[in-house]
Amino acid sequence: MSLRTFRRDTITRPIFKWASRATPPISGTERDAIEAGTVWWDGELFTGNPDWNKLLAMPPAKLSAEEQAFMDGPVRELCAMVNDWNVNWEDRDLPREVWDFLREKKFFGMIIPKKYGGLGFSNTAHSEVVRTVSSCSVVAGVTVMVPNSLGPGELLMHFGTDEQRDYWLPRLADGREIPCFALTSPDAGSDAAAMTDTGIVEYGEWEGEKILGIRLNFHKRYITLGPIATVVGLAFKMYDPENHLGRGAELGITVALLPTSTPGVTHGERHIPQFTHFQNGPLYGKDVFLPLDLILGGEKQIGEGWKMLMTALAAGRGISLPSQSAAAAAICARATGAYARVRTQFDVPIGMFEGIRKPLADLAANIYLIDAARRLTIAALDERHRPSVISAIIKFHATEHMRESVEKAMDIHGGKSIIDGPRNYLGSQYRSAPIGITVEGANILTRNLMIFGQGAVRSHPYMLKEMLALADEDEKKGLDAFDKAIWRHLGHAFATAGRAFVRGWSGGRIGPAPDGAAMPGYWKQLSRHAAAFALLADFALLTLGGALKRKEMISARLGDVLAELYLLGAVLKRFETEGRREEDRPIVAYVMRQGQGRMAAAFAGVLDNLPARWAAYLVRLLAFPVGVPAPMPSDELTNAVAETLMKDSPQRDRLTPDIYLGEGHKEHPLKDLEQAFKLVTAAASIEKKMREEHVGDPQVARDKGIISAAEFEQLAEAKAAADRVVAVDAFPMEEVSPIAAQHRQKKAARNKRSTRSEAAE
Ligand SMILES: Cc1cc2nc3c(=O)[nH]c(=O)nc-3n(C[C@H](O)[C@H](O)[C@H](O)COP(=O)(O)OP(=O)(O)OC[C@H]3O[C@@H](n4cnc5c(N)ncnc54)[C@H](O)[C@@H]3O)c2cc1C
Repeated sequence: MSLRTFRRDTITRPIFKWASRATPPISGTERDAIEAGTVWWDGELFTGNPDWNKLLAMPPAKLSAEEQAFMDGPVRELCAMVNDWNVNWEDRDLPREVWDFLREKKFFGMIIPKKYGGLGFSNTAHSEVVRTVSSCSVVAGVTVMVPNSLGPGELLMHFGTDEQRDYWLPRLADGREIPCFALTSPDAGSDAAAMTDTGIVEYGEWEGEKILGIRLNFHKRYITLGPIATVVGLAFKMYDPENHLGRGAELGITVALLPTSTPGVTHGERHIPQFTHFQNGPLYGKDVFLPLDLILGGEKQIGEGWKMLMTALAAGRGISLPSQSAAAAAICARATGAYARVRTQFDVPIGMFEGIRKPLADLAANIYLIDAARRLTIAALDERHRPSVISAIIKFHATEHMRESVEKAMDIHGGKSIIDGPRNYLGSQYRSAPIGITVEGANILTRNLMIFGQGAVRSHPYMLKEMLALADEDEKKGLDAFDKAIWRHLGHAFATAGRAFVRGWSGGRIGPAPDGAAMPGYWKQLSRHAAAFALLADFALLTLGGALKRKEMISARLGDVLAELYLLGAVLKRFETEGRREEDRPIVAYVMRQGQGRMAAAFAGVLDNLPARWAAYLVRLLAFPVGVPAPMPSDELTNAVAETLMKDSPQRDRLTPDIYLGEGHKEHPLKDLEQAFKLVTAAASIEKKMREEHVGDPQVARDKGIISAAEFEQLAEAKAAADRVVAVDAFPMEEVSPIAAQHRQKKAARNKRSTRSEAAE
């Protein structure tokens, strides 16, 4: 004890004093964001020595029989009802019968418990439904997604009063109420806490009675479902200048349940988000009066709005956009593999060109990676974790990989995907890609500020303890807690340095891998990188302190390493969980090498730019004595991975499960593509026979007896199907341009007049 007291008073105290001055104070909203959600696998990654066996022991995401029946029934029916081209280019809305179907089948109440009339689905089911619906139409996907995310159902379940739950949840579950969530305003986008929307506590009239309530004035924008919503989860800053509630004048960010029928509320105008016509628009409120009991969670939740939002986002962000991204990436991969097989140039399928094979392999890698991470994340959510750092990682990386997939798919398709029309199956994915990038935490902000910034505080084994100790108003208590944390931290840092040294100097050969894992080398490399990450993170935090917040480029790269550790761990886990399928080995190796390359670039970026050069040299010396290894997939591996998308195989179906391919529609471009792909691959052996005899024309081949008449017919059928796929839309000039239509009308009128006058003459 006396030794500890000596250590605390003579060594720790000066460090405590210096750190108190150097550490910027944590703002209220920062504290709420830090405290929101839970620490899960991110905590293990920050130790620098993650226990991979724990990751493997995590039960995989699974659907119940009831959830599977919903996927096979209402979800498929819904997809067959939606014509994406008509929704975006003609109706600019989902048809009435689709809205009715969504309400009737309770798509808006998937996460609401059964006792309130909802479907009570797991996070896994929620994710799978959003994924399949988004694969048929982004508009339908977003429409289903929002009420099941922040749209106040989730907030009500966590924070609502019993009366609020009893009233609102049944109405939200069966679609009597259409919800929206309104946080963003013109002044407050990424910095949402800077909103200027206000609620003043004062007396006013409600249903003929004078009561104490809130007078709201607000201008929100970009609100999904806003134009048609009947109830808004409205975030505003609450003030009580006359101190009616006895809690001071500034009460903080609060959320109210605002019926849009309340006098003073205006909505109905629509934004057009990249010609993706889901309902989205601004909301205005002028002197709107609401009773206090419409504050979400009642009076006790006044000022807790930011914490509520961050908590709900910690889960919702891990489901909605990753699911939509998984759908888009799967469509891109499946369709592009098929198109690369069906489309020929220079007399060969374009997928045979090495230049095409590289982006094709990337498309295959992206689907494996996104889905591995999505499934792991929803499995964690089903286990009741609410991992805010992990949900930021998966939101950012799923949407970025999706955007990459869409761009590569577009490049491979060439003009076919650029010309819009009912035959274009990629245009709507391309247009909507930036939406996923921007919403639920814009990606640049998420990467640069959130992932490592929040992770370093929240998921690091000692950082939060130290920060809370420094912020303690009772200095003595603070010093005591700081002393305990900082010395443990120091011990941990030495252990991390030792691990980074052994794993680094052995080139990653010495390091833990899970018991009996199939690809131990990749696990060991991850162990090596995890130790190097923890070491580098500690040095960055030590040498930059609070300045790390402004050093966004360094923070972003550290976040990239953390994210890759999560994503690549998910990939290896997927391989194990799915029974180590031999045919998936190339794709797993490809993803791992690509990911290690990205990690290497991020490590090198931090080491080259860390202002404390001594720290960078020390980390290099310990963890990367011969440089940061940056493996790349070989050309042979790239070719093998690209092949997986060009072969009609159970593996291709397994890698792109449950996406909508036009079933139930009389005509659908993906249905045509699938059919052509099957016919063309089935005819491959016939083409081979012709090639061997150096005959290119099927008619000549038939006449020479190289192929049979039946084979000739088969080739002709495949060719006709391929031609249908390669075709693009062309519209009458008047249909495309009203000017042309007016011109034609005027010309017709002129012709009529001159014919009449000629007749008169
Ligand atoms: C189609 C659509 C639907 C939406 N739906 C809803 C909804 O239903 N409800 C709702 O409340 N909101 C909604 N939003 C709003 C959305 O959440 C915001 O658009 C988002 O928060 C970003 O705000 P902003 O667009 O004003 O961009 P800005 O905040 O102006 O940001 C511009 C750029 O600066 C970057 N940036 C900002 N700060 C930093 C920083 N510190 N470091 C690095 N980079 C930074 C951002 O990443 C972004 O790239 C929707 C938006 C869109 C486009």
